[in-house]
Amino acid sequence: MLAHQHKRNVKRTTFRDCARRCVYCGTSLGLDIATLDHVYPLSRGGTHDPGNLVAACQGCNQLKGSLLPNEFFARYPWAGANFMRYARAVHRTFKRGARRAVSLACAQAA
Ligand SMILES: [Zn+2]
Repeated sequence: MLAHQHKRNVKRTTFRDCARRCVYCGTSLGLDIATLDHVYPLSRGGTHDPGNLVAACQGCNQLKGSLLPNEFFARYPWAGANFMRYARAVHRTFKRGARRAVSLACAQAA
C-alpha cells in the first residue's frame, strides 16, 4: 500500500473510532477538517500506534501541543472528560490516566 493511502486509511479509521468528533472538546468534525493527534506526543517519545491516535479539531490539537496527556487533562479537565467518552480505541492506560486527572481536578475545585 502506498504511504499516503495508508495514512488516509489510518485517519479514516481513527476518525470513526472517535465517533467523528474531536475527542477533547467533543465537537462534531468532518473528515476534511479533523486532524490526527498523538495522545502521547511524538516529540516526547510517542508512537504511530493506533492506540496512540485520536481525532481532534485544530484548536484542541494546538492547545494540547506537546503536553503529555496527564498534563493536558490536569490543566483542562473538560478535555479529559470528553476523551473518556469519545476516544474509544485508545490504550486503556490513557483512559485510566484521564479519569485520574479529571477526578483530581474535580476534587481540587470542590
Ligand atoms: Zn476540539
